[in-house]
Amino acid sequence: MPRPHNTLLASAGTTIFTVMSALAAEHDAINLGQGFPDGDGPPDVIDVAAAALRDGRNQYAPRDGVPELRRAVADANRRWYGLDIDPAHVLITGGATEGITACLMALLDPGDECVLFEPLFDIYLPIIQLIGAVPKIVRLHPPDWRLDIAALEAAITPRTKAILVNSPMNPTGAVLTREEVAALARICVAHDLYAICDEVYEHLTDAETPHIPLMTMPGMHERTLRVGSAGKTFSVTGWKIGYVSTTAALFTTVGKAHQNLIFSIAPNLQRAIAHGLQKDDAYFVGMRDALAAKRARIATGLAACGFGVLPSRGSYFVVGDIAPLGLGMDDVTAARVLTQEARVATIPCSSFYQGADPPRTLLRFAVAKRDEVLDEAIARLHAWVAARGGA
Ligand code: GLN
Repeated sequence: MPRPHNTLLASAGTTIFTVMSALAAEHDAINLGQGFPDGDGPPDVIDVAAAALRDGRNQYAPRDGVPELRRAVADANRRWYGLDIDPAHVLITGGATEGITACLMALLDPGDECVLFEPLFDIYLPIIQLIGAVPKIVRLHPPDWRLDIAALEAAITPRTKAILVNSPMNPTGAVLTREEVAALARICVAHDLYAICDEVYEHLTDAETPHIPLMTMPGMHERTLRVGSAGKTFSVTGWKIGYVSTTAALFTTVGKAHQNLIFSIAPNLQRAIAHGLQKDDAYFVGMRDALAAKRARIATGLAACGFGVLPSRGSYFVVGDIAPLGLGMDDVTAARVLTQEARVATIPCSSFYQGADPPRTLLRFAVAKRDEVLDEAIARLHAWVAARGGA
């Protein structure tokens, strides 16, 4: 008998994003599962990356990132939120995923508790557990996924060290309101908590629903690690470039986590993102409005097919409810059947839950696709539902 591997990893399944992408490929389905755009990033950003590959700077970048990108991230913090971040306290990471991992590693000792919200993105929990820290999960409820302050207070103990906040939220598309962000700040200050803020969809909210970083609230600057994503902001998810903005004390430790995880990130791509972050407002507003229109397009289409549709104010995602369709199957089965028969792949939302009795009728639809692709997906769903005697 070979000796056992790490217990947690050996017993974990393959991520649902990979599972559903593979099933989509097998059935030639439109993949509205894993969240990535089907177009390319802005041509000027791609051009800068291509030119940067040819100018002889292809060795290790500095550990913390190339200076021009660290400066561009600091400038973007000021431009969009009035945040005063020193470029020396910006860390460039291997996507937000590595950034969040580095933040958790930097803050948590075994036995420390970290509060997070459910439904939750699938890496948070295993990373916390691999560190030996203890996740404390607070559930948010459909359809609005509002913050339950009493439940949050109840989850905090003297061992709580950090809170992990994702807004705009994957998979729900919920965006924390100013009141919710203020309440979170009060709680962090009152209990002396650090905040790790996964804000990868910061630029992808409805025009009337601004994203408010927790870091902007009184007392939060020095206790927050704010994580952003070039992949989401510039539609280049495969580049895996993220950034952590923080203050001197936290930066020192996060940098050490990063040097143990990956050390440094492709220099050419970093330089292209530095260019991208300096694009004019029209780019960012255009992205924001294009994604909002796609969320609305899918929402309207799903409703016409007979799905329930939950409000989404940001992110790549819209959640549809299969309950009104009366299919007599749970979300996991429905996601598989829809991929095989309707040839539209989604993500079953129960996979974003750890606790007992998750909602079992919700599917997440990724909308960052060309309009004709979204329309074809809706047409397929419509035909499938109609063939079953539905809408
Ligand atoms: N963020 C993407 C999503 O939620 C997935 C990223 C991944 O596959 N790890 O779909």
